[in-house]
Amino acid sequence: MNPTIDLESPSMLKKQNYPVSTKMLIDGELVASESGAELVSTDPADESELGRVPAATAADVNRAVAAAERAQPEWARIGPVARGAYLRKLAAALRERADEVLELEVRDTGNTITKMAADVGQAADTMDYFAGLATELKGETIPASSEHLHLTLREPYGVVGRIVPFNHPIKFAAHAISAPLIAGNTVVVKPPEQSPLSAALLGELCRDILPAGCVNILTGNGMPTGDAIVRHPSIKRIAFTGSVPTGRAIQMAAAESGVKNVTLELGGKNPLIAFPDMDPAKIAEVGLAGMNFSWQGQSCGSTSRLLLHEDIHDEVVERLLEAVARIRVGHPLDPASQMGPLNSRRHYERVQSMIAKGNEEGARLRFGGQRPPGKEFERGYWLQPTVFSDVEAGMTLAREEIFGPVLSIFKWRTEEEAFDLANSTEYGLTASIWTNDIKTAMRAVRRVKSGYIWVNGASGHFYGTPFGGMKSSGIGREEGLGELLSYTETKTVHFMGAFA
Ligand code: NAP
Repeated sequence: MNPTIDLESPSMLKKQNYPVSTKMLIDGELVASESGAELVSTDPADESELGRVPAATAADVNRAVAAAERAQPEWARIGPVARGAYLRKLAAALRERADEVLELEVRDTGNTITKMAADVGQAADTMDYFAGLATELKGETIPASSEHLHLTLREPYGVVGRIVPFNHPIKFAAHAISAPLIAGNTVVVKPPEQSPLSAALLGELCRDILPAGCVNILTGNGMPTGDAIVRHPSIKRIAFTGSVPTGRAIQMAAAESGVKNVTLELGGKNPLIAFPDMDPAKIAEVGLAGMNFSWQGQSCGSTSRLLLHEDIHDEVVERLLEAVARIRVGHPLDPASQMGPLNSRRHYERVQSMIAKGNEEGARLRFGGQRPPGKEFERGYWLQPTVFSDVEAGMTLAREEIFGPVLSIFKWRTEEEAFDLANSTEYGLTASIWTNDIKTAMRAVRRVKSGYIWVNGASGHFYGTPFGGMKSSGIGREEGLGELLSYTETKTVHFMGAFA
């Protein structure tokens, strides 16, 4: 019998205590699936079993949504300041358990501990950020006529459904509940099936701090769990973070089951455009950093396409290859590791197949592409950091998101060519532009079709600035006031006749 994860005891997180068995949160209680079915979460570093989570069925989803519906009127009634206070308490509790969450999260995702440490803090910071916006849920008074009073009110949808991916489980789960709760909704969240364990910790904290039913966390697969959330008739507002194909499937399922407001934070195939006035050494450095090898490239904003002007191309490539060769691949819990294993077998095999396609289609493999040598890498989803040069616009490497540690390098000659290359995919999430000339920067900012652009920077997110994608990379914006307001519906009121 596996132990149930005991969050009071950090010793539970020692490897000898694995695998753990966790519960999911429905109506203020940590419960198993009504069917008793479980999913296994695997340690990506060695393929051992890390834990089991309940596999929620459609009946579990129905129970969770019913609980959320019961809880919502009172949650809305207590007002934004009280809701903010609850969320701040949750953030403080999460910070107190940061070490536990971190170790569990690093083991379950394979992301390096030095990088992952920031995620736990950001999970709590996001709760605080939206708590601070609580009184910004303002309507308007509109001078539409001189005789009457015209105003708008912002009202919560009711129950919100949120589905999140595997690369930042605790950060995304915390984010998923924050804005909807502050806006007066209750929430049903589905964490990723590949890295679901930290959701149990969040579930326990929510159980202890929030009124029952306000947050329900259902572990399970996309099918049936995610799909049942999307199709539930009482859920009109859905926010999804994940891949383009799943986003499209969710749009269809939502349309088949009702009139729903769906926002989508989807994938990217993001360009970093380096102009010839830049120092090649700097571009080699930022090209490496923007690729997020420390997350194994599993970050939606990674600049996985490096677009180099021909004048600096060769020197940047040479310097970048030297730096890539120095990346230290190792166990994600070792603070010296700069890159861990990929997240799951399915994903590992997909990334390998993309590397094979790169080779078949004539891109030039300059580094990596293999399992790293050494006994410690014989099991698990290990891959060397991988770099291709001579990538051309028509190739699979140029068009499809890999979401792995694979950097594709392109050479361009004219600005037009650079902009065409940058815009040559269906994605439009982020872009990074490097030049010392502000006019060049402005031309690039206008021409590149991406929702989030860094000039002489890459990778950073800033609270209050809207994040999201153009083209197939998404619908809607998150991380700012707009996200909070997106969890409300507008009610317009006209005070017309006199009161008797
Ligand atoms: P995914 O395969 O699309 O899955 C995302 C989530 O959707 C998972 O929880 C998944 O469940 C669930 N799901 C799958 N099919 C579903 C369905 N038919 N109905 C409802 N839910 C369903 O994405 P992923 O591989 O986990 O994550 C990588 C992708 O996320 C990349 O494309 C990346 O760029 C994108 N991403 C975007 C952002 C952003 O902010 N724009 C941020 C991070 C990641 P399972 O657990 O069963 O798969």
